[in-house]
Amino acid sequence: MKIKVKNPIVELDGDEMARVMWHMIKEQLILPYLDIPLVYFDLGIKSRDETDDQITIEAAKAIKKYGVGVKCATITPDAERVKEYNLKKAWKSPNATIRAYLDGTVFRKPIIVRNVPPLVRRWKKPIIIGRHAYGDIYNAVEYRLDEPAEVELIVRNSKNERLLVHKFEGKGVILAMHNLESSIRSFARACINYALSEKVDLWFSAKDTISKVYHGYFKEIFQEEVEKRKEELERAGVRYQYLLIDDAAAQIMKSEGGILWACMNYEGDIMSDLVAAGFGSLGLMTSVLVSPDGVYEYEAAHGTVRRHYYEYLKGNRTSTNPTASIFAWTGALKKRGELDGTEEVCKFAEKLERAVLNTIESGVITKDLQPFTDPPVERFVYLDEFILEVRKNLEKLLGEEFGGEGSA
Ligand code: NAP
Ligand code: MG
Repeated sequence: MKIKVKNPIVELDGDEMARVMWHMIKEQLILPYLDIPLVYFDLGIKSRDETDDQITIEAAKAIKKYGVGVKCATITPDAERVKEYNLKKAWKSPNATIRAYLDGTVFRKPIIVRNVPPLVRRWKKPIIIGRHAYGDIYNAVEYRLDEPAEVELIVRNSKNERLLVHKFEGKGVILAMHNLESSIRSFARACINYALSEKVDLWFSAKDTISKVYHGYFKEIFQEEVEKRKEELERAGVRYQYLLIDDAAAQIMKSEGGILWACMNYEGDIMSDLVAAGFGSLGLMTSVLVSPDGVYEYEAAHGTVRRHYYEYLKGNRTSTNPTASIFAWTGALKKRGELDGTEEVCKFAEKLERAVLNTIESGVITKDLQPFTDPPVERFVYLDEFILEVRKNLEKLLGEEFGGEGSA
């Protein structure tokens, strides 16, 4: 008998090889076991083009309504893609549209497998990076001075203040950046929600000793939001600490992991790639969008795996790693089960995760993991073989439980 999922999960379909994997996962690892109401949106590039991208907005609204979404990787079109798929225009990144609509923060979380050890030996648990995705140098005004100048910052408010930036004797360069209280507060709240959801410690780091006002402002808002949720954090055993960014960078190398590290925009850009590389393959990296009001959207951190798709179109088998996409599904299922109070749904998701880990740990791996395995694995498998093996392992884990119940 299938396990009943009480409330809907919003499913966002995508493009290319990621879409191929998506359907295999759904048909072979989800639908045979779960009676699940899926609210489906096709975010494949053709469907976005046909609806003038309205489908993306509709999907974002549905995620807000139902609280949990799961998304397949999608093409963000550029000029080349416009030609390739004969599009009306280069539509905006669906992720950016959904993130803006939900006012969300993206967290990247690695999947840890015993025989794919992180490059940093001390890392035992995931290090999750939360990157503030608004403002700073990403929405800055820059100016290049080719002659001497006096540069001032003019604030047109009731006080009409002017601040001298610098008196340039020769050439130079300037930059003015900003951020918003509302955006920083949303970011802090999303980080607190996610730390609570994952039961991991929360770090926020900046350089407030140097940037007393700008970085200091971030630190202050974080502290205020943490104070508001103090009891909840204590109850969950989640500790918050503020660290100077350089101290945090050193501490993270020495830590075991199990931390959500919240970073400002630029630092988060760097640290997320650094930590991702430290954990190995993109095929083992998941990503979650969390809104300040507690809406969750899960996905794999990788893209549509374009090169593999072209092979697939030629009729060749590919050794694409579906792990992160499977974990997007299990992340959504666990959250759905938690919100609905249906423990059997959470348990199923945990078993599916275990089945994937058992598969890899037994030496059945896709090609991308081969260089990182310890002990080394000589032979890799193709996508269909990998999924089949996961299903076998899942059946085994489910069988243990049902077998136990049946004999009782
Ligand atoms: P990609 O899909 O991340 O793949 C880049 C390379 O990484 C692949 O060619 C492959 O290397 C390896 N790789 C990534 N995921 C893998 C997996 N699951 N299993 C095995 N290998 C994996 O980036 P892309 O191919 O350059 O980008 C394609 C499209 O994805 C772009 O149109 C971009 O807009 C989109 N994209 C979407 C998202 C999203 O929706 N969240 C995120 C990023 C990019 P080898 O070729 O060496 O095997
Ligand atoms: Mg980057």
